[in-house]
Amino acid sequence: MDTPSDMPLSDRTRMRRYHWLAKYDRESVNSIIDAGIICQVGYVFDGVPYVTPTSHWRIDDHVYWHGSSASRMLKAQEKNIPVCFSVTHIDGIVFARAAMNHNILYRSVMAFGNASVTSEEEKRHVLSVFCDRLAPGLWDYARRPNEQEWKATKVIKLKLDEVAAKVNDALPGDEEPDLATDRWAGMVALELMQKAPVPDPRLAPGLKMPDFVKAFSYSARAGDRSAWTPEKVGDDS
Ligand SMILES: Cc1cc2nc3c(=O)[nH]c(=O)nc-3n(C[C@H](O)[C@H](O)[C@H](O)COP(=O)(O)OP(=O)(O)OC[C@H]3O[C@@H](n4cnc5c(N)ncnc54)[C@H](O)[C@@H]3O)c2cc1C
Repeated sequence: MDTPSDMPLSDRTRMRRYHWLAKYDRESVNSIIDAGIICQVGYVFDGVPYVTPTSHWRIDDHVYWHGSSASRMLKAQEKNIPVCFSVTHIDGIVFARAAMNHNILYRSVMAFGNASVTSEEEKRHVLSVFCDRLAPGLWDYARRPNEQEWKATKVIKLKLDEVAAKVNDALPGDEEPDLATDRWAGMVALELMQKAPVPDPRLAPGLKMPDFVKAFSYSARAGDRSAWTPEKVGDDS
C-alpha cells in the first residue's frame, strides 16, 4: 500500500497503473467530490454503456444526483443497477522534454456501487442541501417547489463504499539524459474562470442582487490545486 487508506480496497478499486498516485482515504476522496459540481455517471442500459454528465452533491458517505422523473437514466438507476460515478478536475498541463512525458495534472475519483432512489422525505431534504451547496442561502431565497415540481423530480444516491481517488501533481517525468538537454519543461496551471454575475434583463427595476450571488465563488470550493505551483517551485524561467 502506497498511501494511507481508511476505506476498504476492492479488486476494482486497487490501482494498477501509476498506483503511487492513488488515494484511498476518505478526506482526499471527499475533497475531490466536493470541489466539483459536475460528475459523470456510467451505467449499462439495454446492453449499451452510457456515461452521463450531471450535477452531484455529497452528504456524509453518499453522493446524490437528480433529474426528471421521466429521465431514462434515473428510471434505469432506481432499479438498483450497478453504476460507476466519477468526478475529474484538470489542474494543468505538464510540458516535458520527451514527447512521451507530456502529462495532465488532475484530481479524479471513481466510485462503484448500486444506485438507489431516495424516499420522498429524503429527496426533499437532500435537494435543499443541493441548492445550498451551489450557494448557501439559495434554498431559503428561492420559491419552494410545488407538489407538481416535487413529483417531477427524482433523486438517485450511491454509497461511497467502493471508491478511490487518483491525483497527479507530478513534475515532468523526464529521464536523466533528457534533463541534460536544452529543451524547456514546465507546467501551465488551469482553472475554471468565474465572471461577474449578469442580471436577468427581466428583473424588476431596482431589484438588489442577493448576498449569496455576490459572495458566490467557484474557486473557493475548488479545493487544493496541484501541489506543484510556480510559487512553490519558485522559478519562472
Ligand atoms: C484528466 C485525465 C487525463 C488522463 N489522461 C490519460 C491518458 O492520456 N492516458 C492514460 O492511459 N491515462 C490517462 N489518465 C488516467 C486514467 O484515468 C486511468 O487511471 C489510466 O488510463 C489507467 O486505467 P486502468 O483502467 O488501466 O487503471 P487501473 O489502475 O487498472 O484501475 C484500477 C482502479 O483504479 C481506480 N482508478 C483508475 N484510474 C482512476 C482515476 N483516474 N481516478 C480515480 N480512480 C481511478 C479505479 O477504481 C479503477 O477501477 C488520465 C486521467 C485524467 C483524470
